[in-house]
Formats: sequence, structure tokens, C-alpha cells
Amino acid sequence: MIDIRGARKSFGRDLVLKDVSLRVPVGTVTCLIGPSGSGKTTLLRCVNRLETLDAGIILVDGHMVGTTTRRGVLHEAKESAIARSRRTTGMVFQRFNLFPHRTVMQNILEGPVHVLGRKSSDVIPEARVLLERVGLSDKENAYPQELSGGQQQRIAIARALAMKPKLMLFDEPTSALDPELVGDVLTVMRDLADEGMTMLVVTHELGFAREVADQVVFMADGVVVEAGTPAKVLTAPENERTQAFLSRIL
Ligand code: ATP
Repeated sequence: MIDIRGARKSFGRDLVLKDVSLRVPVGTVTCLIGPSGSGKTTLLRCVNRLETLDAGIILVDGHMVGTTTRRGVLHEAKESAIARSRRTTGMVFQRFNLFPHRTVMQNILEGPVHVLGRKSSDVIPEARVLLERVGLSDKENAYPQELSGGQQQRIAIARALAMKPKLMLFDEPTSALDPELVGDVLTVMRDLADEGMTMLVVTHELGFAREVADQVVFMADGVVVEAGTPAKVLTAPENERTQAFLSRIL
């Protein structure tokens, strides 16, 4: 589903992604872990084309969304491929990014109605199913500021799912939440994984990674240091940097 080959990305002189290759097969969950500044968010943003690569290739669902170099020439992915990939990819950020002056229902309808051009009357029943799925059926008419951070994040997930994505990207979705609100968001994500959603998740929640991930990828300084099953990377890491990172946060 996601195939990243030799991704490179700099910001000015700062080489943030050095040569990252990573695959996320259909229906699997990959958790990306690593110290602050290691390039995890940047990688996710390149997958969703919020950033462009300097070199390398990113394929999403078989379509190229990244930039590649061939004989030194930069080839941009076609706009149509990027638009298609954005439609098939849902993204949930650390901050919930809901529209503050719109109700929960209006937030969920926004993408399907204004981006996909669907009729509200067709989308509303689907939105209600999603609200039930994230346990917030009673909040349809609430405004974001009337909800807790955890509830807002669950609405952000429902809003992303309303676009019927084939792939979900999560960027530290629980790190801005009070500890008691984290569990409900992780439960929604776990259910999504159980239903077979393909997911790439940047997270510091190692319990979640251990339980839900098919693959854990440890990044540091813009490279993939170690990747494998949770049992391998989290329980018996081979690389010293992985060991040091885990001993700091466990
Ligand atoms: P964290 O866990 O703190 O979110 P991260 O592993 O997700 O960290 P990134 O956010 O990808 O790391 O950042 C990697 C590096 O790239 C950092 O040094 C950051 O300052 C830099 N960086 C990220 N985005 C930009 C930008 N738009 N312009 C300049 N530098 C950036």
C-alpha cells in the first residue's frame, strides 16, 4: 500500500530524511517510533504530499506521489496522482485541526461534500455511523470547543474516515491529550486496525505498538535504524540506538 524507496529530504542544510525505505503492506499497521527530530513527521508528510521529496520514490496504492530523480532530473508526481492519493489517504494530526465554528456534523461533512461533491443528505447517515463507531453519537450538534481533547481527536478520526480512505496516517494522535483521554482514542485506532485498515502511525505509545502493530520501525537522525515485528524491535532490539531509546522511554 505504501512503498517508500530511498526517500531524501532536506530543509535548508538540514538533511532530515537520509535514505529511508519502508513498506506498509495492505491491511497492516506500522508504528514509527524514534527520538524527537528524527524525521518521523516529515516522512508522514511526504507520504501525504504535504512535503515534497528531494530524491527517492513514494508509491501509495501503486501510484507515485513522491518525487524521484532519474538521471539527475527531477520528475514531479502528476497532480492527478497526488489528488487521488490525498483522497485515498486520511491523516490525523497531533492537534485535532477541527473547524472551530462548525459543528461536529459539519466538520465530518466538509470533505465528502466540498471535496468529493457528494450530497449532504447522502453523507449524513454515513457520518452518523462513524459517530457511533467513535462513541460520540450524542455530539453531532456540538462545537469542537465543547468537547474534550480526546473527543475532538475521535471526531478528527471520524472526519478522516468519512472520505473512505484506504490508508490512514496518524501523527502522534494522543501526545497532546491528558493521560486519561488517551485510552479512548487508542481504542478507536485499535478497532480500525482490527477491521483491516492500513495504518502508518507515529507514536510514543509503545503498549499500543506492541499490541497492534505488525511492524515497528525505529528511526533516528533521518534513517531507519531497525524495523521488524514488535517482539523483535521492542522486546529484543539488536541495535544499540534502539536499545538506548527504549531504555529512556520505558
Ligand atoms: P517529533 O517527535 O518531535 O515530532 P520528528 O521525528 O517527527 O520529531 P520531524 O518533525 O520530522 O521530526 O523533524 C525533523 C527535523 O526537521 C527537525 O530538525 C525539524 O526542526 C526539521 N523540520 C521539520 N519541518 C521543517 C520545516 N518545515 N522547515 C524547516 N525544518 C523543518
